[in-house]
Amino acid sequence: MSTNSLEALDSADALAPLRAQFDLPAGVTYLDGNSLGALPRAVREALNQTVDTEWGSDLIASWNKHRWIDLPVTVGEAIAPLVGAAPGQLVCCDSISVNLFKLLATALALRPGRRVILSQGDNFPTDLYMAQGLESLLGQQRCELRTASSDGLLEALDSDVAVMMLTEVNFRTGEKHDMRALTQAAHDAGALVLWDLAHSAGAMPVALDACNVDMAVGCGYKFFNGGPGAPAFLYLAKRHQNAVQQPLTGWMGHRNGFEFSPQYTPGVGVSQYLGGTPGVLGMRALQAALSLFESVSMSAVRDKSLALTETFMARVAEQPSLVAFKCLTPVSPEQRGSQVSLAHPEAFAISQALIDRGIIVDFRAPDIVRFGFAPLYNRFADVAKAVSVLEDVMESRHYEDPKYQVRAKVT
Ligand SMILES: *Cc1c(COP(=O)(O)O)cnc(C)c1O
Repeated sequence: MSTNSLEALDSADALAPLRAQFDLPAGVTYLDGNSLGALPRAVREALNQTVDTEWGSDLIASWNKHRWIDLPVTVGEAIAPLVGAAPGQLVCCDSISVNLFKLLATALALRPGRRVILSQGDNFPTDLYMAQGLESLLGQQRCELRTASSDGLLEALDSDVAVMMLTEVNFRTGEKHDMRALTQAAHDAGALVLWDLAHSAGAMPVALDACNVDMAVGCGYKFFNGGPGAPAFLYLAKRHQNAVQQPLTGWMGHRNGFEFSPQYTPGVGVSQYLGGTPGVLGMRALQAALSLFESVSMSAVRDKSLALTETFMARVAEQPSLVAFKCLTPVSPEQRGSQVSLAHPEAFAISQALIDRGIIVDFRAPDIVRFGFAPLYNRFADVAKAVSVLEDVMESRHYEDPKYQVRAKVT
């Protein structure tokens, strides 16, 4: 496919005008929106307003006057339609890690007599770590993490499994699970499901209610563009609410925190899953970032995402200088998220050389360069640029420069 035909794809793209609503530095091709979304202009305005008018002028009265206290629910309800959830099941709070802990404990309590958390061995580490933490807290009599490969999940779903915890799109490979089928399989085995939507929410339609999902978590700072450390979200289906108490019993999840009663009484519904004081600045930023989704359909977002990744994979496959890369991302669209992962023994140095040339990607150990495509602001021109710079880096062997071997704390 020629650069000209990619220009035609950009001209025909109905989502193209959204890019102007982001602040993207000149000369940079940003392909890391699956790690940290770009800055929506609306976020800067919202933060200025929150700092100047709300915090700066109205001070503590803002908790009521500007409804800061309601933000976990308000922002949760703004996320809900984007992941196929009816109202009353989703709150915005904490990080994915903390939300996993609360929900895993809930799942074990909802399935007495079962003690296994089943997950995928190559799930995102924090998901596994949180299950390990719960395991060491409760002891293996009551909680045991079991992992299987993607292909071995169904076989591992026995009558000990309380909950199957999976990430819909694998962070390393970009492989996407069939949420509906796996949820059904877990239910058939008497288990619950907990889906991590870190790499799907904001990049594709998600149908939590329609797939009969029990629990889910997702990220505010990836495809939702809520900013560094933006709060995460948590979904608990109506049918499971109020049956058990979650373990992190903070005052924001109390039925009436401002009673200041010494005795904890859980709040009604999903609000029980709140813990401490919400980070208002982060929530305001996320709230403003979510407003960009009001004018788009998630199926249009998905169509563009698939077209971007498909175009990128096709271009990489046809370049002789790129044959040493192994594409780990499935070719079949139903099995693909919104990123393309290329494996190469020199992946780290190659990622550094790309970043040096304005192509912002990331490296995932041990040998993966990840190219993330955010349909709200990435263009087909970005695909062309990334492939041509990658060709240059490989043909020139510039990645062999020793300066590209130096590793910082965050890759
Ligand atoms: C990014 C990501 C996380 C991040 O978790 P935090 O606790 O919010 O830092 C968790 N799980 C998956 C699958 C991720 O991709």
